Amino acid sequence: MNNLLADADICVKCGLCLPHCPTYNKTQNENESPRGRIALIQAWAGRHLETSKKLLEHIDNCLLCRSCERACPALVPYGRLINNFREQIKGDRETTLAVSLLKKVSHNKTANHLAQSGLRFYQTTRLQKTARLLKLPGLLGLGKIDRLLPDYHEQSPLAPHYPATAEPKGNVGLFIGCMGTLLDHETVNSAIKVLTAAGFNVSIPERQTCCGALDLHDGDNETSEQLAATNCSAFADKSLDAIVTIASGCGSQMKEYQQAELAGKVVDISQFLIKSGCDLSDRLMPLTASVCLHTPCSLKNVMREEQGAAKLLQQIPDIKIKPLPAAIQCCGSAGSYMLDHPQMAQALLNDLLNATLEDKPGYLVSSNIGCTLHISAGLRERGVTLEVLHPITLIARQLKDKAID
Ligand code: SF4
Ligand code: SF4
Repeated sequence: MNNLLADADICVKCGLCLPHCPTYNKTQNENESPRGRIALIQAWAGRHLETSKKLLEHIDNCLLCRSCERACPALVPYGRLINNFREQIKGDRETTLAVSLLKKVSHNKTANHLAQSGLRFYQTTRLQKTARLLKLPGLLGLGKIDRLLPDYHEQSPLAPHYPATAEPKGNVGLFIGCMGTLLDHETVNSAIKVLTAAGFNVSIPERQTCCGALDLHDGDNETSEQLAATNCSAFADKSLDAIVTIASGCGSQMKEYQQAELAGKVVDISQFLIKSGCDLSDRLMPLTASVCLHTPCSLKNVMREEQGAAKLLQQIPDIKIKPLPAAIQCCGSAGSYMLDHPQMAQALLNDLLNATLEDKPGYLVSSNIGCTLHISAGLRERGVTLEVLHPITLIARQLKDKAID
């Protein structure tokens, strides 16, 4: 309680964060703004406000995009404040079926393997089509997960090590997290391909697990810390120069682990390649296409590594990169937010899709799997064919080197 008050008291109520807040911009309601939420928590922690459904709703409606934190001149640790509040009131909040299921699949390797087999069966037989026709996912409370599922692709098992295929420059650990092999195998394979081609030996420790973001944002600090400890021991190898992430949602969580040694090594893959001075430009085939660049909030506001993707993609000859207009804020995916708050998530997604489609891009790139799934689902629902992929996948597809295929 004292920590909550101490963090909330840093806020001087200047309101400079308000224009940066997606939920405030959509509702124009002070209680849906960072300043308003901080004031609510301050009043609650000071015992001037009871726990109520309305209070929990205002805090839960926050996307934790942390745009406010980046804009705040007083450096209010907004993310920490909300996470600590959620931990304090976890007994008063309910975890939805979709989020519980997601957590199960994220934490438990057997459940993850079962989900892989189930997904293959669901999508490669007529089951998915029939179930959707009968509206079964919705009736079972799983409609929001079902709409996000990408097409199934067979994935061969990953090796624990991949040696550099160019003059060796160093060793990296690749964090694939809980969803990498399940939903984002092309990004995983592309990351291995590009990192080894750039001269890095890649280790993929089998013991790595979920980054813990889902639990932390759900008020379960204890589980989140256990998962952090498992990842720290999985990546304890001192010879690793960096721990490279391919999903900024996970990267942002790991960058804030209490274990400073590991946290200090975590870096987004595009940023890592740029910082390591990798110039792949004469090894990349030209791409005559316009590419819309989506920068996830976690990459921008928490990892603060938003420059890497654009700089890396610029190495592809002939490519035309179009960042989204600054007025477009969070896409609405925000971890499990898109499952729990479909209306706000859809409203924010609509803004992003309208701005994206105006320019008729050939591709949309995003460095976070959650955003990719949410945006892809929105495009499918509009009947628009536009591939959404990770920047590293675009780089991998353009690599000329046959030796590294
Ligand atoms: S959170 Fe920061 S920017 Fe927002 S009102 Fe408080 S001090 Fe001002
Ligand atoms: S984290 Fe994002 S949604 Fe939440 S108050 Fe800050 S700006 Fe608004």
